[in-house]
Amino acid sequence: LRRNAGEHEFHQAVEEVLGSLGPVVKRHPHYLDERVIERLCEPERQIIFRVPWTDDAGQVQINRGFRVEYSSVLGPYKGGLRFHPSVLLGTVKFLGFEQIFKNALTGMPIGGGKGGSDFDPKGRSDTEVMRFCQSFMTELYRHLGEYTDVPAGDIGVGGREIGYLFGQYKRITNRYEAGVLTGKGLAWGGSRARTEATGYGTVYFADEMARHAGRSLEGKRVVVSGSGNVAIYAVEKVTELGGTVVACSDSSGYVVDEDGIDLDLLKDLKEVRRERVGAYAEERGGRARLVQDGSVWDVPCEVALPCATQNELDDEAARTLVRNGTWLVAEGANMPSTPAAVRVFQEAGVLFGPGKAANAGGVATSALEMQQNASRDSWTFEHTDARLGEIMRNIHQRVVTTAEDYDRPGDYVFGANAAGFTSVADAMLAMGVI
Ligand code: NDP
Repeated sequence: LRRNAGEHEFHQAVEEVLGSLGPVVKRHPHYLDERVIERLCEPERQIIFRVPWTDDAGQVQINRGFRVEYSSVLGPYKGGLRFHPSVLLGTVKFLGFEQIFKNALTGMPIGGGKGGSDFDPKGRSDTEVMRFCQSFMTELYRHLGEYTDVPAGDIGVGGREIGYLFGQYKRITNRYEAGVLTGKGLAWGGSRARTEATGYGTVYFADEMARHAGRSLEGKRVVVSGSGNVAIYAVEKVTELGGTVVACSDSSGYVVDEDGIDLDLLKDLKEVRRERVGAYAEERGGRARLVQDGSVWDVPCEVALPCATQNELDDEAARTLVRNGTWLVAEGANMPSTPAAVRVFQEAGVLFGPGKAANAGGVATSALEMQQNASRDSWTFEHTDARLGEIMRNIHQRVVTTAEDYDRPGDYVFGANAAGFTSVADAMLAMGVI
């Protein structure tokens, strides 16, 4: 604890995984003898750097950049960059730690890493974002490479930012190394279905969970938190599968639209105009209402998909959901439910799919983007989306089978942690003391 003082989110993520591993180390005591868990609590490498840049008023601004290269036993470090004022080293470490096991669950050859900055792109002009990204990459580039470390997007980092980052990487290295970043534009090495992948994948996973329990998402009332990349494409896929998303949110509040969220309007507001959810309520006239204080989880639903940020759903919100009849929760975001909320769901018998399994479709499709880059190929949307669907079904199967194997049927938290950890630990042991 002293060694990682103040890194609350990192402690939370580690405790969540370690809390699951009792039965695993009991069955495989050599993981303890070889101190695999202690090794995994220490990232392979942590990089912290200054990011100076000039704003439109000519003022020098200073931000802090991070890259935590957490584990490379299964492949090059892989995981997104987050630009948000709340980003601290502990945030990046928690995300990197989660990423190791998530990436292992995909079955693809990718290690775990994460990065970002406390830079806030909100309210910044395109040229300010560009100058920031160029300065960020001017330091980060020396640590990256298609066989070393391959970042992608996360909160505050979408297609625009990846473009500026890739442009600067290409410029200072004089290499068109498409496989060094994922989430690129289609014309310059991006993969079809990558934009949709995390949201779609979360809903594919939720759909598998429902089917496994003899139920379905069709005709169900759904609440999605957030209204960013993951949330938008979760809304799209739920709607395609016949569910109705009645509410979504951002950090300024939430909107309720009983007719179902108007996806074209939401995309235009969020992806093009970069507006707040209040604008959605205004443009829908009397058909949608904006709520600025309170929690989106107060809106009754059968299925809840938290797709905004960590610790956005606490035990009080979980109790409200349970009272309102929610029977399935699948996490599109990373660690959105607090440990107390997870306990409430599990005790109430709610089907609960943790982020490291449910939202793995994004990184899996990033690995598909790397495959396309390596073979100088470009797949169709249908082919890529079909691969994504297959990967999500496989993850579901692996999590369910692992939980059953340890006599914990239906415990997705245990299944995901045990299956992810075992893959990483076995690879570490095979490679010696590293
Ligand atoms: P975006 O930046 O596109 O969207 C984030 C959304 O969450 C926005 O609506 C934002 O609202 C809201 N949000 C962020 N922080 C807060 C906060 N502190 N309080 C309330 N609302 C907040 O990010 P993504 O959609 O890419 O990421 C969402 C989650 O999904 C994150 O946990 C991320 O780690 C996870 N994830 C993303 C993947 C991807 O491929 N993009 C892959 C796997 C996981 P506002 O605009 O007002 O800040």
